[in-house]
Amino acid sequence: MTRRLSLLTPSGRLTLGNLLGALRPMRAGQDSAECFYGISDLHALTTPRDAATLRTAITEQSTLLLAVGLDRSTLFRQSRVPAHTELSFLLECVATTGELGRMTQFKEKSRRHETVRCSLFTYPVLMAADILLYRPEQVPVGDDQRQHIELTRDIALRFNATYGEVFAIPEITVPPAGARVMDLAEPTRKMSKSGPDAGSIALLDPPDVVRRKVARAVTDSDTGPASVRADRDAKPGVTNLIEILTACGGSADGIATYGALKAAVTDAVVAELAPIQARYAELAADPAYVQEVFERGAEHCRAVTAPVLSAAREAVGL
Ligand code: AMP
Repeated sequence: MTRRLSLLTPSGRLTLGNLLGALRPMRAGQDSAECFYGISDLHALTTPRDAATLRTAITEQSTLLLAVGLDRSTLFRQSRVPAHTELSFLLECVATTGELGRMTQFKEKSRRHETVRCSLFTYPVLMAADILLYRPEQVPVGDDQRQHIELTRDIALRFNATYGEVFAIPEITVPPAGARVMDLAEPTRKMSKSGPDAGSIALLDPPDVVRRKVARAVTDSDTGPASVRADRDAKPGVTNLIEILTACGGSADGIATYGALKAAVTDAVVAELAPIQARYAELAADPAYVQEVFERGAEHCRAVTAPVLSAAREAVGL
């Protein structure tokens, strides 16, 4: 059985974009692969955030992963599997400052902060460790992570060439164009869990909040008979609403006005989120159960990753 690995960073509240672009495909993936789905809580520390906020985000995200139905996977927190950080250090010993400095995401993120944490610079190496420890055959990633997976391959090949064959070299696969949900207020940028709240629908937003956000979504001034149509370049806001509606099981066929489109989008999104929110409420009432699931998952991850870490340690002479 193939292995599938995916990590989500608790850097904000999970959004409708995360659901349609990542969590739903992850749920579907459970039928055809052995899935390891993790919360990359260490990655969240690469930029400043206070401990209480992080703790809340981790608890909410853990509960949501279960609430969306990832209950046939190994769920775990990265920080509870120490092999990730230990292998990361060994990989730092073959990675170079030159190649890390070329990472586009590092260049962009470091421009936004006055001081830059060392961990923001080295985080692609931790990500390489996250991947290599599980020997996944394929790593499906979006465009924004492609450079990091190429780095993972380069580091693994160099390690193998220097110390002996330890790592399986993962293939990069480009998943079929998945849902790409745009921000409701600024439809040319992606809806993001760390972006402004107004244009982003959180999975736990109650129906009236969803209604208000969709009602304020940017459209355009086109009032012609064919104004409700998809055209990403000319009508990014309307296209985004149509795509959200379709992804949530609705259809824009026969809808003629933006008001009617927004009402249909609201209903479809509220219906999509309702079972997740109901399950979330049940799980949130039993935090010990959620914790136990993640602890059991971490135990399984510690067992699965131990031989890979031992092989790497031994290869370098430790
Ligand atoms: P991020 O929230 O950027 O850490 O991404 C976590 C996962 O959710 C990745 O698989 C992303 O591709 C996916 N994702 C995040 N935002 C969106 C979005 N607006 N539309 C579709 N997929 C998204």
